[in-house]
Amino acid sequence: MARNSKNVCKLCRREGMKLFLKGQRCFSEKCGINRRDYAPGMHVRPKKSTDYGAQLREKQKAKRIYGLLERQFQHYFTIASRQKGNTGENLLVLMERRLDNVVLNLGLALSRFDARQMVGHGHIRVNGKRIDIPSYLVRPGDEIQVFGTDKIKKKSTDAMDMNKGQSLPTWLEKMPAELKGKVIQLPKREDVPHPINEQLIIELCSK
Ligand code: SF4
Repeated sequence: MARNSKNVCKLCRREGMKLFLKGQRCFSEKCGINRRDYAPGMHVRPKKSTDYGAQLREKQKAKRIYGLLERQFQHYFTIASRQKGNTGENLLVLMERRLDNVVLNLGLALSRFDARQMVGHGHIRVNGKRIDIPSYLVRPGDEIQVFGTDKIKKKSTDAMDMNKGQSLPTWLEKMPAELKGKVIQLPKREDVPHPINEQLIIELCSK
């Protein structure tokens, strides 16, 4: 209903689906989409879907969820297609392994934007070394820890408290008292929590 539309974030409203861009808020009642039983965009008429449209839509969805530009996305696709195994799964796993995504999954930040900013501003250390590249790909054994002033640490502690109910992916381990996390193993397809049909993306990108 109209009373809820203001709670639907801009990109989700545009895409007409949940993109999970605001961390814990996306799973709560604060999310406008959770509070209504139909897609956002009250005045949007259903469009006739084509194969190409569905493929493009899926790619846009993945890009928006992980906050990627087309160039970055194409870069991941190139890497994924050169790796062994299923290209679609490789693509999703690569995006999951991004440092900003891991910071968000560990609950050290409230949103993907916050997570990316923390990394970009040098407040995250990986294995004790400052890493300020949000696209850094984590590996098994990597230890990720918040580093910075008391203010930065407080912000992260608050985020962890608010994210308490958030389930932790099985490929990660969390040490809240130290504002730290560890990568136990590489994520698998089933560890990707987002409703992305990677097959449609591959069909599009392989043309
Ligand atoms: Fe906003 Fe998250 Fe809900 Fe999308 S899913 S509308 S980003 S709260």
